Parts: sequence; structure tokens; C-alpha cells
Amino acid sequence: MAGLPEHGLDADAILAELHAKRAHDARWAEGRTFGMVYDGGHSVHEVAARVAQEFLHENALNTIAFPSLGEIQREVCEWTASMFHAPEGAAGFMTSGGTESILCAVKAARERGRAERNITEPEMVLAESAHAAFHKAAHYFGVRVHKVAVRADWRADVDAMAARVNDRTVLVVGSAPQYPQGVIDPIPELAALAASLGASMHVDACMGGFVLPFMEMLGYAPSSPWDFRVEGVTTISADIHKLGYAPKGASVLLHRTKQLRQYQTFVFDDWLGGFYASSGIQGTRAGLPMATAWAVMRHLGVEGYRRLTRSVVETRERMVDGIRSIDGLAVLGEPEAQIVAMSAGPGSDIDVFAVGDALHRRGGWVLDRQGPPDTLHATVSAGNTAVVGEYLDDLVASVAEVRGTRADDRSTNYATLE
Ligand SMILES: *Cc1c(COP(=O)(O)O)cnc(C)c1O
Repeated sequence: MAGLPEHGLDADAILAELHAKRAHDARWAEGRTFGMVYDGGHSVHEVAARVAQEFLHENALNTIAFPSLGEIQREVCEWTASMFHAPEGAAGFMTSGGTESILCAVKAARERGRAERNITEPEMVLAESAHAAFHKAAHYFGVRVHKVAVRADWRADVDAMAARVNDRTVLVVGSAPQYPQGVIDPIPELAALAASLGASMHVDACMGGFVLPFMEMLGYAPSSPWDFRVEGVTTISADIHKLGYAPKGASVLLHRTKQLRQYQTFVFDDWLGGFYASSGIQGTRAGLPMATAWAVMRHLGVEGYRRLTRSVVETRERMVDGIRSIDGLAVLGEPEAQIVAMSAGPGSDIDVFAVGDALHRRGGWVLDRQGPPDTLHATVSAGNTAVVGEYLDDLVASVAEVRGTRADDRSTNYATLE
């Protein structure tokens, strides 16, 4: 095991070392990744980089010391609340990402169940398409999960979920859209189910939060209403660091009322260090991603998001059409926003994992392997628009190259440890 070198290096030498380390990193700036990095374009990079310089060291642990960060958080929450048609009095916090938003939503539902319904053994009901972060939350917070199979169209099966609720249910989950196939769950029916129990209803709009509102402005109707206009929805999560185009470390969790938001927070004043209140999982809290998220939202405005959303939806439509025109390839479900799940069609001689490997060799394209069933997952963002034609050409060539063969490695790879 190597120790920290005795002598330090100057910035030029350090950057040279880091440059070498990055030789094999995904080429996101060339539009080669369909996930992980979402590129809003040059002006967005410039705004984020300049603001990051300014907020490199700020700490949102204490907004008395840094009132700017308190104001930034308040404004970001107000802007997103208005995007999601929240009623007056809605309130939220920024978090470090979708996972933290979901952890906080589950924790809030658990606390609410304890306070309002005396539930000591909390349970939640979700579709098998709901994000892994809900299972992480269940694991952290001791909530029992009822995981229910999706319908043939990949949406949550409300009747099957209704059969799994009981008087210990604190949370019902729906997604807009869900991550694996990009379809929107029947949110009004799920919210009615939650409300009938006095339970919370979380809408996971980590992916859709910065796409669906602008699609609606462009005249695309979602298969189901999903935001606070739906009675019974108590919390919504939306990731600014995905299609909000902000640097990593920024998401929002909104509650329908400020009173519901109280179930998210932790307040403590019985140690030697003084009053301690925190909104989420973190203690010391980087101001950098909060400020850059605020800045990117302020830079793009509604107009900018509408423009980027239009290009995302048109690119997704081209991808779907391109995939469906290749014999033996299929798109799962009817993608509603920016996600496209590509699989082999029935009786096909194509292994999509082999196609994914060939795409990577051929053009450096990065798509997640997921399943079941074996699927290549693409989240389209504005950075992919310029290269989608090249991608589809490489897809045709890759399918021709590997048709009839099978990749030995069958592992999927949404997230890794080391
Ligand atoms: C990305 C994502 C999450 C998790 O967010 P992180 O920012 O990766 O922690 C949760 N739900 C959905 C639908 C997502 O797409």
C-alpha cells in the first residue's frame, strides 16, 4: 500500500497526473455517454465553472454564516415547486442527489406514520421498477418493502399494489418516469391508494422533474398526471444534476406542506456542541453544488429548459425509430421522456450485451447494461443530439458485427463499488 508522497506537487504537475488517469474515462463531452453526465452545452459549462470557483469552499451546514446558501436553497425549492404546480405552503430542501432525496422521503414517511398513526413496524409498497435507492432507504431505516411486479407495459400495477397495503403502510411509491424503461406510473391511482390509508405518496421524478414540465409546455401530454396537481401526492424528488444540467451533487425534495417537511428534519440539542439541526443526511454540506445548480437554473430559465427539452425529445424519438427499424431489436414499452431501453425482440438472434460491447469498441459509446430482461439503457440528454446520427450508424454496424454471437460476461452495471 502506497503512502502519501512526502513532497507535494504544483498544480501543473498534478493536472498532468490527473490527465493521465483519465485516459480511459467515458467521453461524455463528445456525447458518447447515455447516462451519468448530462451536457447542457458550452454556456452552461461556463456558468457552472465560474460559479464553482466562487463557491469552492462554502459550507451550507450553517446558513447563519452563509445566508447566501440559505437563499439559494429557498429559491431553487420555490422554482421547482412552481414547475410542479405545488400549492401555496409547499416546502423543500436541496439534497446531494436523488438517493439522498429518496432516503429523506422514506424517512419522512416513516416518521409521519409513527406520529400520526402510531406505526412502529413501517412498510412501503413499490413496483419492481422503482429505483434501488428505495431499497437502500428501507435497509437504512428499517422499513419493510413490498415489491410488486409491473404490468406488461412496464407501469406499476395498482391493483397488485393495493393487495399489498395494510395498516402499517407508511409509503406508496410511483415514478415519473421510472428509470428502467422510462414510462410514467399511474400516479393518481397510486396517490388515491396512499391517501385512503393516511399514508404518504412519493413521486420519484429524479429523471423526469426537469423534462416533463417542459414537455408539457411543448404540447406533449404525459400518460398520467404526476405532479402536485394530483391529490394525495405528498413528496416529489427531482435531480438538478441530471436533466437540470447542473454539476453533480444537486437534487430537490419537495413536500406538499411545511408541516410534512418537519418529518424529514433532525433537530438535536443535548450534547456538548450546541443546537444541531439538519435537513438531510449530511452534516457539513458543500455549497458548491447548491450554488452551481442555482446558477445553471438561473442561466437556462424556462426558455433554456424548453429548448434543451425539445432537442432531447426529438433525439429520443430518432433513437426509438432507429432501433425499431433494425431487424431483431426492440424498445421496451413506449418511452415518454428521455429514456430508451433497447432489447432483443422475440426470437431474435441478437444479444444486446454483445451489441453494447461492440458499440463501445467502435465508437466509445457508453450505455448501461440492465435487467432483467437483458437491456441496454440510454438516458438521452441534450449533449447526445449532435451525434445521434453517428450513434445509429454505429448501432447498425455493431448489430451486423455481432449478430448470432453472445457476450460471455452477463453482468449488469448500473453502479459499482471500487
Ligand atoms: C438517478 C435516479 C435516482 C437516484 O439518484 P442519484 O442522483 O443517482 O442518487 C433515483 N430515481 C431515479 C428515477 C433516477 O433516475
